[in-house]
Amino acid sequence: MFCIQCGAKAGDGVRFCNKCGTRVDTEKTQSFGNPQSPLDAQLDKGKIMAIVSLVLGITAMLLPVAVIDVILGIAGIVLAVMAKKEGFTGGVQLAGFICSIVGTTLAFFYTIYILY
Ligand SMILES: [Zn+2]
Repeated sequence: MFCIQCGAKAGDGVRFCNKCGTRVDTEKTQSFGNPQSPLDAQLDKGKIMAIVSLVLGITAMLLPVAVIDVILGIAGIVLAVMAKKEGFTGGVQLAGFICSIVGTTLAFFYTIYILY
């Protein structure tokens, strides 16, 4: 990178320009100094969606009310997909997705079992 003040070449990882002393690591300082960057906020949003998805999925599997289970399960699937779009993937997001699908499927077959 180059010094923004005097234009002298400064090596990567150098914090101050060795010609004029101007700070040259502003880019890194900003990303480290601001813990809640837009990407982090997005990941937090995705994490919350994933957790809610998991809760909905588990509730859909355990609650013995088929009609509500289908609604909860579909909501859980949608939230898990949205969490993935927000960039949050991993154990919780995947578990939420699977639990929601299982919950919806169980509720679906349970409904058929009651009706016939
Ligand atoms: Zn300089």
